[in-house]
Amino acid sequence: MTRSDTERFGPQRFDTHEVTNQSPLYVDIDLYMSDPPLQAAVAANGGADATADLSVFGRRWGSADMAELARQANENTPRLKTYDAKGFRRDVVEFHPAYHQLMAESVAAGLQASTWEDDASAAPAPAEVVRAARFYMAAQIETGHLCPITMTRAAVAALAAEPELATRFVPKILSRRYDPHFVPWSEKTGVTLGMGMTEKQGGTDVRANTTRADPTGEGYALVGHKWFMSAPMCDGFLVLAQAAGGLTCFLMPRFRPDGSVNGLRFQRLKDKLGNRSNASSEVEFADAFAWRVGDEGRGVRTIINMVQLTRLDCVVASAGIMRMALAQAIHHTRHRSVFGKPLADQPMMQAVLADMALDAEGAIALVMRLARAFDRAADDPHEAARARLLTPAVKFWVCKSAPALVYEAMECLGGNGYVEESVLPRLYREAPVNAIWEGSGNVMCLDVLRALAHDGAAVQAVLERLADETKGLPGCADAIAYLRRVLADPQAEAHARAAVERLALLAAAAALRASAPQAVCEVFARARLAHGRSAIYGSPSFGSAEPRQLVGRALPM
Ligand SMILES: Cc1cc2nc3c(=O)[nH]c(=O)nc-3n(C[C@H](O)[C@H](O)[C@H](O)COP(=O)(O)OP(=O)(O)OC[C@H]3O[C@@H](n4cnc5c(N)ncnc54)[C@H](O)[C@@H]3O)c2cc1C
Repeated sequence: MTRSDTERFGPQRFDTHEVTNQSPLYVDIDLYMSDPPLQAAVAANGGADATADLSVFGRRWGSADMAELARQANENTPRLKTYDAKGFRRDVVEFHPAYHQLMAESVAAGLQASTWEDDASAAPAPAEVVRAARFYMAAQIETGHLCPITMTRAAVAALAAEPELATRFVPKILSRRYDPHFVPWSEKTGVTLGMGMTEKQGGTDVRANTTRADPTGEGYALVGHKWFMSAPMCDGFLVLAQAAGGLTCFLMPRFRPDGSVNGLRFQRLKDKLGNRSNASSEVEFADAFAWRVGDEGRGVRTIINMVQLTRLDCVVASAGIMRMALAQAIHHTRHRSVFGKPLADQPMMQAVLADMALDAEGAIALVMRLARAFDRAADDPHEAARARLLTPAVKFWVCKSAPALVYEAMECLGGNGYVEESVLPRLYREAPVNAIWEGSGNVMCLDVLRALAHDGAAVQAVLERLADETKGLPGCADAIAYLRRVLADPQAEAHARAAVERLALLAAAAALRASAPQAVCEVFARARLAHGRSAIYGSPSFGSAEPRQLVGRALPM
């Protein structure tokens, strides 16, 4: 329950009018207990034992205090200090204290650490699922700071290729004490790590990287640039560069081993559409020191283990953005009356809200099932194949669905939705980036085709399993037949978007069957797979009771 504005601020009387018919602020909520689709998806994937902890986290991140930190961190954007007063290079980025507080909260909650901790696999709750639930709730409040958080946790997967480096760095990554000081990593209570792959001449095609790496004593000296390198105040970066043996992964610390500042020269911070609390830099490497991670020539293979995890987080964060937009829309329309009746009770608005709720529930069900596949991948080849095939497919569908949903949710709030204080504009600006970074939409579709070509039998088995899991649901048998036909076609690339969307929807129907009431699952399959889907929300032909059921489930009164 949210408090009314009268409870929060006292009676709202002005000289000229009274404030009436406005919805109360959507704060001081338990982001977990107010979200039955999330609870169901967590429980269906083995995380029910974590309910109490997740509710504590949900209350903290749903508090007015956290919403305020998010506002401050995004209104007071990071600033690059290239030089000091005497003209010496500084190359530091200053963040607002609210950003540091958000980082400290996420690190203390272990969003960068929990899945790597020794007891993570022994714990009764599945580590990826429970952590994904936390990440999803944090993303509803502030996504910019989650960029370094996700990169830091994912870096552990790349560092595994260099056990000696991992032994030194991983304990600092797992520390629950965030340390923002600009000092060598070895002197800090905890570290964060970023990633630099994209150069001016090529982002998707990292083989086009021109940054050179030459051996020097303990490590390598890197000369070149990165066109995008986010979270520049991280303590080190996993970067790709050309060594004698080919494209190679390196760990580049902000300080050299002798304690001097390393040769990272920040040129600018990007002036971005959204993601404003986070800094994304353009950087040059002037003989920057770095350690090699993995063998020379195996750079992509090394860093892809990290990217697979950041892709999962893109999906989780997009689902979180969708959830917050939907919750704001339902909350507002329940409190706002037009023509004497709450908007949420008007038939057309109900159809819009229900249609959005369908995508949001499909997204969270998919996300949690995918996180479960990551949890099981090490011991179960089928789950490993599922994670391999579905990560790009789910990233494609969920991350591409978020902007449209946020836009529609914004409209549900009318003019208020277009105004910064409503939070919807920030969510709207934030939504597209998850589809762009860590592999853009087309690249995800190509990755699905690559998985089918390279891991053929295992991946075909995933399709068979999906066919089983969705048996009898409207449109699913046809979708499977379509996928078998299109994906086997040598010209598949030209049709890959439609096929990958269908694959993700099928996986969503399968995930919903395990986590949602049968009725929700049936409506999803009917509206998203059996019937041609309109690009505009509010168009499915729902049964008369369905919209109210879907909206009531999404956000109980
Ligand atoms: C806010 C922000 C922060 C970022 N932070 C980082 C960071 O920290 N580190 C980092 O390394 N990068 C970062 N990036 C870069 C990001 O990962 C790249 O922009 C992304 O991978 C796409 O690369 P590109 O920009 O070079 O586009 P391109 O590779 O030129 O691609 C352009 C378009 O072409 C499509 N495309 C590519 N190949 C094909 C094909 N074969 N067939 C059909 N279509 C294709 C892509 O899907 C894309 O839509 C960041 C980007 C943003 C926006």
